[in-house]
Amino acid sequence: MTTAITGAPRRVNALEVRGLVAGYGRTTVLREVNLTVPAGSVVALLGPNGAGKTTLLRTVSGLLRPSGGTVLVDGEDVTTRTPHARARAGVCLVPEGRGVFPNLTVRENLALAVPRWRKGTDVEPALAAFPVLRERIRQIAGTMSGGQQQMLALARCYLAGPSVILLDEVSMGLAPKVVDEIFEALAGLARSGASLLVVEQYVNRALAMADFACLLNRGSVTYTGPADLLDEAELTRRYLGADLDAEHGTAAGDTEPVPLRP
Ligand code: ATP
Repeated sequence: MTTAITGAPRRVNALEVRGLVAGYGRTTVLREVNLTVPAGSVVALLGPNGAGKTTLLRTVSGLLRPSGGTVLVDGEDVTTRTPHARARAGVCLVPEGRGVFPNLTVRENLALAVPRWRKGTDVEPALAAFPVLRERIRQIAGTMSGGQQQMLALARCYLAGPSVILLDEVSMGLAPKVVDEIFEALAGLARSGASLLVVEQYVNRALAMADFACLLNRGSVTYTGPADLLDEAELTRRYLGADLDAEHGTAAGDTEPVPLRP
């Protein structure tokens, strides 16, 4: 079943990042990054370890202040806003790690996921999207399996009314069968009309579900365009190391900037 996550399709881009510069202390990580997530589309954000993918998600969600550039959500400039205000503007971050309250029940976690400004929002759409959570509604979240906890983290997206969902390696550390379920959940989010920016170690799977891809290398964008125009073999060789299986690889650190069929 597909549960609608957004209202009528929006005409503007869900997310636009222009000339974004950010880093830690005196270290610059993102170097004038431009990236667009058109409304209702899935964008795969790929690149080797340390490329700046998490830094980009943190900067978009307001956890990190950029030193340059702009962040637009639904066409609205949120660059100077707090994380809380950005959440209200429509940014929903599903961070690496599960980000659920382990000592609370599933029901309590879902109740807390409803933002103050959406008070009264029914948790039913989240339960419809993840029936396993309905079965475990009274269970303490921390006693569920890793995959179930990740589903709880994803279920929160259905309650926040987001314009754009930022997903940071949500399949990390899960068993292969559970990874299948997580990708099915992501596909469900995409079918619901959500706009997704997906960071994933499972590169081929991410590309298969994405409309567009953005490759980041040493904080600079080296490709942005349709996901199906990417040559996966070249992508794997350049970004993940020739000797690694792209489905299970971690980046090998070949960070030579290479334009991939722009
Ligand atoms: P990975 O796939 O390994 O998560 P990534 O593309 O998400 O990589 P980031 O985590 O954004 O990369 O890291 C980009 C650079 O910023 C790296 O060189 C990293 O060491 C550095 N970095 C990340 N977090 C911090 C921090 N809190 N303080 C200082 N430097 C950091």
